[in-house]
Amino acid sequence: MENKSEVVIVGGGIVGLTLAYQLLKRNLTSSIFIIDKEEKLGMHTSGRNSGVLHSGIYYPTNSLKAKVCKEGSERLKSWIKDRNLSINKCGKIILPTDKKLDNQLDILFDRGLKNGSKLEIIDKNRLNKIVPEASCITGRAIWSPNTSVVKPLEIINSLQDELTEKGVNFLLGNQIDKINTEKNSITLKNGLKLFYKYLINSSGSNALKISKYFDIGNNYQLLPFKGLYWKLKKNCPFKPKCNLYPVPDLNLPFLGVHFTPSADLNPSVSIGPTATLAFGKENYYGLNNLEPYDSLKNISTLLKQYLLNRGGFKKYVHEQAPLALLPFMINSAKKLIPEIQAKHVLLSNKVGIRAQLFDKNQSKLENDFICERIDNSIHILNSISPAFTSSFALADKIIDQFFLKIN
Ligand SMILES: Cc1cc2nc3c(=O)[nH]c(=O)nc-3n(C[C@H](O)[C@H](O)[C@H](O)COP(=O)(O)OP(=O)(O)OC[C@H]3O[C@@H](n4cnc5c(N)ncnc54)[C@H](O)[C@@H]3O)c2cc1C
Repeated sequence: MENKSEVVIVGGGIVGLTLAYQLLKRNLTSSIFIIDKEEKLGMHTSGRNSGVLHSGIYYPTNSLKAKVCKEGSERLKSWIKDRNLSINKCGKIILPTDKKLDNQLDILFDRGLKNGSKLEIIDKNRLNKIVPEASCITGRAIWSPNTSVVKPLEIINSLQDELTEKGVNFLLGNQIDKINTEKNSITLKNGLKLFYKYLINSSGSNALKISKYFDIGNNYQLLPFKGLYWKLKKNCPFKPKCNLYPVPDLNLPFLGVHFTPSADLNPSVSIGPTATLAFGKENYYGLNNLEPYDSLKNISTLLKQYLLNRGGFKKYVHEQAPLALLPFMINSAKKLIPEIQAKHVLLSNKVGIRAQLFDKNQSKLENDFICERIDNSIHILNSISPAFTSSFALADKIIDQFFLKIN
């Protein structure tokens, strides 16, 4: 069986869906197929994240993240408002958990302002009015009133429905068998051969693997980092009403374990995510979906980074890697809310895996989004946080910088 479509998007996560949305909205095509290997969308990162709409604080000014995060957040908020979807406009506090981190607060504040984020430095009194239980070692914290929390799956489902109504064809539950880059065709395992004029590879943790058909991304290695979450029990004597984050290590792409209220009417509070190496791109639980060969390569890469202490890697291994174990996680959470104890939390069944790229030539974790084009194909690699927040603005950047340049 054969079919053809002007645009074929591989991967129906938030990145692929918002790209389809913006291509239609800007009348750049009316012929889109979205292929996803799962029967249902949102099975991977876009349905397994913290749901925080970041306001653009952390990112160096010239990064792609800085350019799209704040705008993306505002556009997603207004999209959600028009559709009456759930949102908790609770704001966020960033706290130094150690006196040595106090100067990082100024760096973050400065970066945030440059990126257009609305921020304030607040004192202990203000902080304790917002979160009475929070610790305040240095007497200062950052308050970001525009950070919100949403329900990622609600957004994914709503986007899918809208795109279907607008005529996008979804081919779900379909694995790719072959890609013929010369004939511009993709053959699926069910035998369907699909010809395209433009191909967009937004397949998250598989994007690097697919990009290799096009001889792109050869200098990268995928390091999957697992994020576990806990939840505050219903009878827990405290319940932060806003996001509570530590000042992170700015060398690493992880924000540290934080408290996040949900976007429910009666919000529950999650704690996490942790960041430990996963033994496969989809190794969410126990020994499921193990990839032993890749895992050995990844362990060896991380070991080298550790021994040479590149990018502050020793600090990561000592401080963040053990957080998957409850006592270490509680110790880390105590730095934000001193009264928290193991009896206040239970393990959540939500687990996410970050598809983090490692640059083999420069021996470093890639902190920014990476998008590459070759001929008529575009590849979105390293769609790490805050790609969910940024998605609408990121889609327009990709269209302007890559799609419109294809002859
Ligand atoms: C623990 C965690 C917490 C996070 N928290 C936040 C947050 O609070 N705020 C924020 O903005 N971002 C957050 N992020 C990041 C955010 O979730 C991701 O940046 C975003 O979801 C990436 O979307 P995506 O579409 O690129 O990938 P995905 O959502 O993974 O979508 C890729 C899709 O491609 C499909 N696919 C894969 N391989 C193939 C194939 N061979 N053929 C066909 N289809 C394929 C998959 O089934 C999937 O549906 C978090 C991430 C993690 C892991």
